[in-house]
Amino acid sequence: MDAEQLREHAHKMVDFIADYYKSLENFPVLSQVKPGYLSELLPDSAPEHPESLDSILDDVGQKIIPGVTHWQSPNYFAYYPSNSSIAGFLGEMLSAGFNIVGFSWITSPAATELEVIVLDWLAKMLKLPKEFLSSGLGGGVIQGTASEAVLVVLLAARDKFLRKFGKESLSKLIVYASDQTHSALQKACQIAGICPENFRHLKAKQSSNYALGPELLSEAISVDLSAGNIPFFLCGTVGTTSSAAVDPLLELGKIAKAHDLWFHVDAAYAGNACICPEYRHYIDGVENTDSFGMNAHKWLLTNFDCSLLWVKDRSALVKSLSTCPEFLKNKASEEKGVVDFKDWQIPLGRRFRSLKLWMVLRLYGQENLQKYIRNHINLAEQFALLVRSDVRFEVLVPRTFSLVCFRLIPPSDLADNGYKLNYNLMDAVNTSGKIFLSHTVLSGKFVLRFAVGAPLTREKHVREAWRVLQEQANILLENI
Ligand code: PLP
Repeated sequence: MDAEQLREHAHKMVDFIADYYKSLENFPVLSQVKPGYLSELLPDSAPEHPESLDSILDDVGQKIIPGVTHWQSPNYFAYYPSNSSIAGFLGEMLSAGFNIVGFSWITSPAATELEVIVLDWLAKMLKLPKEFLSSGLGGGVIQGTASEAVLVVLLAARDKFLRKFGKESLSKLIVYASDQTHSALQKACQIAGICPENFRHLKAKQSSNYALGPELLSEAISVDLSAGNIPFFLCGTVGTTSSAAVDPLLELGKIAKAHDLWFHVDAAYAGNACICPEYRHYIDGVENTDSFGMNAHKWLLTNFDCSLLWVKDRSALVKSLSTCPEFLKNKASEEKGVVDFKDWQIPLGRRFRSLKLWMVLRLYGQENLQKYIRNHINLAEQFALLVRSDVRFEVLVPRTFSLVCFRLIPPSDLADNGYKLNYNLMDAVNTSGKIFLSHTVLSGKFVLRFAVGAPLTREKHVREAWRVLQEQANILLENI
C-alpha cells in the first residue's frame, strides 16, 4: 500500500462518487439493461497488464452504471429502502482503511468493544428492556442481514430445546409465524433442519390489517401439544415486508411465555421508526421477547450492511455457534473476560461495521435521526392523501410507517380482479425509468407498494411520482 497513491486515487474516487450523487436523477431508477448485457461489453479474461484508474472509471460510467438500479435515487420507492449517508460512507471508508477481521476480541479490541457500545446505545434509543444490554446476560451484535439474525437465533433456540428434549426430538420441533413473515425464516428453517411441515404459517387476516391473531397462535399450539409436538419458536414481525403490518407483541409474548417458546421479533424495517417516542408503542411487549432484530442499513442512514440483533441470553448463541480450534486460542478468550463475536454469528471473519453506525449516531445525533424518520412518514402520508383524492385508486391497508399499499380499482368486468391492470401500471412506471416501485399480493389483489425511505427523497419527488402514476393510469384505462 503506497499511501500517496492511495491519497491520489481515493480523491479521484470520491470526486467520481460525488459526481454520481449530483447526477443521480438523470439515470433511470430501474436499470433498463437486458440480461447478459455486460459480457458483451467486457473482455473474456482479466488484463495481463495493469490499467489506469481513469480508464476503469470511464468503464464504470459507460458500462457499469447503465446496469445499476439506483437505490439512492430520490425517486426510488421499491421494496424497503437501503440507506446511505455521508456519515455511513465515511465509516465504510474507515473500515476499509483498517481492513481488520474482528472475529475475536484480540484480533482488534476496538472493533468488538465499539460494537458492544453502539449496540447498547441503540438499545437505549429503542428503550429495549435492560436484559438486552451487555451489562446483563444479553447483548447486541451486528449481523450482515436480518436473514442471518433470524438464522442464528433459530439455531440457538433449536439447540436449547434439543438439549432439553434430546437430539431425536428435532422432528417434533415446531416454528410459528404469520404467513406475512419474511421468507428469511423459511430459509433459516431449511438450514436448521426444521422440515417444512413443522413450520406453521398462520394466516394473518385482512380484518386485522395482516397482523398475526394471537388466538390463531394459541389454537395452533394446542393442536401441536395434543399431537405430541414441541412448540419452540415464534417469530413476530413489526413492519411486515408486504404491508408493514405489526404483530401484537404484547399478546403474542404472553402466549410465548406461557409455553416457553423462544420469541424473536423481526423489525428489520420498522424497528428504526421506534427511535421516535411517538412510534415506540409499536414494540410494546418487547419485554417478553428473547431476541429482537432491526436493520440500521434499511432506514437509519447506515450503509449496507448493518443488521442489528439483540438477545437476552447471549450464552444460548455461544452454545450453538462457538468453536475453538487450537489456532484461535488466546489468553483473553481463555480468561473469559471478553466477547468473541465469532461465537454469535455464522462466519468466522467479520468487518469493523460498528464504525459506520458510530459515525451515523455521532454525526446526526438522535434528534436528527428522529427528524429523518418523521419526514419520510409525513411524505408517505402525503402520498396516501394523493391516492385517496383520486377515486380511481384505493389505499388497501391503513398506512403505518412510510409504506403505502394501493392499487388502481379495476372496472368490475375485469375477470382477474385487476391483477393485470395493476401489474401493467407498475411495469409502465418502472420501465419509464422515472420512478421505481414494487408490488405484493394481499387477499388475492395485486398491490403496488410505495415505500418512502431514500435519503434524498423530498416532497417534490413524491408529487412527481404520483403524477407519473396518474399519467400511466390514464393511458391504461383509456386502452382497456
Ligand atoms: N425481514 C423483513 C421484515 C424485511 O422486510 C426484510 C427485507 O426487506 C428482511 C427480513 C430480509 O432482510 P435481509 O436482506 O436483511 O435479510
